Amino acid sequence: MYPVISHSQRDSVPNFSSVLLVVFGLKCLIATSALASELNQTDYGLVILQYHHIDDDTPASTSTTPAVFREHLKYLADNDYVVIDLPTAITRLRSGQDLAPRTVAITFDDAFDSIYQTAFPMLVEHDLPFTVFVSTDYMNRPHYMTTAQMREMQSQGASFANHTKSHIHLQRYLNGEMEAEWETRIREEIEGAEQVLIGQLAENHKLLAYPYGEYNLRVLQIIDDLGYTAFGQQSGPASRHGDFALLPRFPMGGPYGSIEQFPTKVSSRPMPLVETARLEPFTDQARPILNLSLYGDRLRLHQLACFAPGGAAAITRDGSQFTIRGPETLPAGRSRYNCTMPVRVTPGSPQTYHWFSQLWLKKLDDGSWHPG
Ligand SMILES: [Zn+2]
Repeated sequence: MYPVISHSQRDSVPNFSSVLLVVFGLKCLIATSALASELNQTDYGLVILQYHHIDDDTPASTSTTPAVFREHLKYLADNDYVVIDLPTAITRLRSGQDLAPRTVAITFDDAFDSIYQTAFPMLVEHDLPFTVFVSTDYMNRPHYMTTAQMREMQSQGASFANHTKSHIHLQRYLNGEMEAEWETRIREEIEGAEQVLIGQLAENHKLLAYPYGEYNLRVLQIIDDLGYTAFGQQSGPASRHGDFALLPRFPMGGPYGSIEQFPTKVSSRPMPLVETARLEPFTDQARPILNLSLYGDRLRLHQLACFAPGGAAAITRDGSQFTIRGPETLPAGRSRYNCTMPVRVTPGSPQTYHWFSQLWLKKLDDGSWHPG
């Protein structure tokens, strides 16, 4: 079996669930190993790069220096990568179309002014499209772009998309807030920002980047209900078989943007995951378990490797099913398990990797969120 119907497709059309079940059943019947193998070969996915500041003087963890950013663009140009406009790429993936190998999208979160001042001229020089995720309450404030700058960028390949109104941690409740109140507030954060983007910039893509890359299962359901596509900050390429409420991106801030790792990241392919239930990232477990089930008959299953806070994860394998646990107690805050598996390539070709990452969110021992 392989993932025919994504979570978001299934969840957004509940009235047709019986029809989809029939389709799903038929697809399972024809999902021979040959077809699965073909899928492995053709699911190149879409690598989405995620930047914040392009600046030498802003906080290192969320910044890529102009020199490194210039190297990234040069590497893409020198190695025949195609940089695609993100809204166009998502429309294609959602309709089940594959993208060409070596297709990349460039995104920036928060609409900091260094994107206009520093990144934009380099992108124009290379004639590359890009997308900026905007928290609309911050437009025109000091250190953020102005509406006029955004309009100028639109005329040269930029698109603008949703990063909520006020850049909140979506999964957190306010003091004393009930679930229904929280949900109303979350919907307003998303829909309110989209209205500003429509009104100020005539942009209406229903694409949302989660602030801090944080979400919970209920947030994913709200994204489905509202008909959006959403992006996290867990690494890996996006797949047309993936969860459109939780597409991955490769963070490029600080050490994650190193030019040494860049070729491996931009050439990576989606992990061939059998669709399973969505996983809640919030955990109170010391060493939470990640289960992965892979499909395909030419996989280097014995070479799957996962890293977690503290080092290599413990992996037990049963056929193409894996149980993965980090080596030590997860710290409070955000952390991830990152898994890679070498792609079987023809001799002489550069090695590429299937890539998947899982976010975990953990509270402090006193029950408060970290960082506060
Ligand atoms: Zn942000």
